[in-house]
Amino acid sequence: MKNWNNTAEIIIIGGGILGTSVAHNLAKKGQKQVVLLEKEFLCEGSTGLSVGGFRQQFSTPANILLSRESVQLFKHFEDEFGVGIDMNQPGYLFLAREEQTWEDLKNGVQIQEKYSVPVERLSPEEISHRWPYIKTRDLLGGTFCPEDGYADPYLVTMAYAKEAKKQGVLILENTEVTGILVKNGRVRGVDTSAGKILAPRVINVAGPWGGKVARMVGLDLPVLPYRRQVFVITCTKDIPQPVPMVIDMDMRHYFRGESSMILTGMSDLEEPSSFNLQVDQTFMIKVVEALVQRAPVMADSKMIRGWAGLYAVTPDENPIIGEIEIIEGFYCAIGFSGHGFQHGPAVGRILSELILEGKTDFDLSPFAHDRFGKLNLPGEKRAV
Ligand SMILES: Cc1cc2nc3c(=O)[nH]c(=O)nc-3n(C[C@H](O)[C@H](O)[C@H](O)COP(=O)(O)OP(=O)(O)OC[C@H]3O[C@@H](n4cnc5c(N)ncnc54)[C@H](O)[C@@H]3O)c2cc1C
Repeated sequence: MKNWNNTAEIIIIGGGILGTSVAHNLAKKGQKQVVLLEKEFLCEGSTGLSVGGFRQQFSTPANILLSRESVQLFKHFEDEFGVGIDMNQPGYLFLAREEQTWEDLKNGVQIQEKYSVPVERLSPEEISHRWPYIKTRDLLGGTFCPEDGYADPYLVTMAYAKEAKKQGVLILENTEVTGILVKNGRVRGVDTSAGKILAPRVINVAGPWGGKVARMVGLDLPVLPYRRQVFVITCTKDIPQPVPMVIDMDMRHYFRGESSMILTGMSDLEEPSSFNLQVDQTFMIKVVEALVQRAPVMADSKMIRGWAGLYAVTPDENPIIGEIEIIEGFYCAIGFSGHGFQHGPAVGRILSELILEGKTDFDLSPFAHDRFGKLNLPGEKRAV
């Protein structure tokens, strides 16, 4: 960006999938003077630590629509950006043990079918027939969509960033936003570790730090960071490939194939909110026990590596997306509760439309910042 004099039209706070996708979409639509600020390096937050899953099996229409749009974008990503994103579609298999969970999965299928998601309801016998290494004795059933899968979050994010830069977006790494300037109910710019930058519009896409950034304008949004741990193990037994993403909804435990290995993780719903990124050996044992319980053939596997990242979680496990009307020029796309990688591409398109045209064809009401405690919206029942 030439001669920018520390002034911009739009400032984006955060260089993960959301920030780079919004930056790319704004620039593609011809917006000039866009600056993206990242306190560390691009993709160092949740995006680079995620497992890159995408799936159309959600319980609410809004999430299904976001996923359907993103899957199409992933499919054509290489044509548009000239970058392969290591896209795999081994499918997602959701499993239910409890009556209520099975009811929720079946209700989900009815909603998904309305949006043409190719999803199947499977009996324990059918699951056992297709994936003989899965123990099914304790199951009531499962649902499977063969189009679900995963891609490489780093490759997607860096491709968005590269394209955004090419189109004139200024990306400043190692630049932390320390305050947001507001006067007479309007955004005026930001204070950063490298000085002040003035701009009439600011977008908060700071992931797990999104609640902290919202507080810079005096807003208390319920977005909290929670640690999520992931482990990769060898699988010494020959099992049929590909290994889909298998999710035990009652345990919030999952595993899937990762090249010739197995990737596995679980949400610890007892753990309080924190920015802790340590890997915990005791929890690792719990995850492996859950894995072996579901797939006993993995009992003699070896641990290769583990890491922890942060989910940004809201009370209904849905994000907050849109303009915060009480502070003119302030926008948020935060609180993706474990779905942000897959929804980032679609949300980039939607948010850029909202900012530049003042409206969008996507109904953002389920994601309104002021819905909590007001609207009786169903939360996302397939958060993992
Ligand atoms: C273990 C794990 C597995 C996951 N698996 C999946 C999955 O399979 N599928 C899926 O869709 N999602 C998954 N997720 C969730 C997904 O990673 C996130 O929802 C998504 O990456 C959020 O992207 P983001 O751009 O909003 O946030 P981030 O990637 O965290 O980016 C926000 C950026 O903002 C920067 N920042 C924060 N504060 C400031 C500031 N004051 N100034 C400047 N910069 C700032 C941070 O440094 C960070 O780089 C997973 C997450 C984890 C942790």
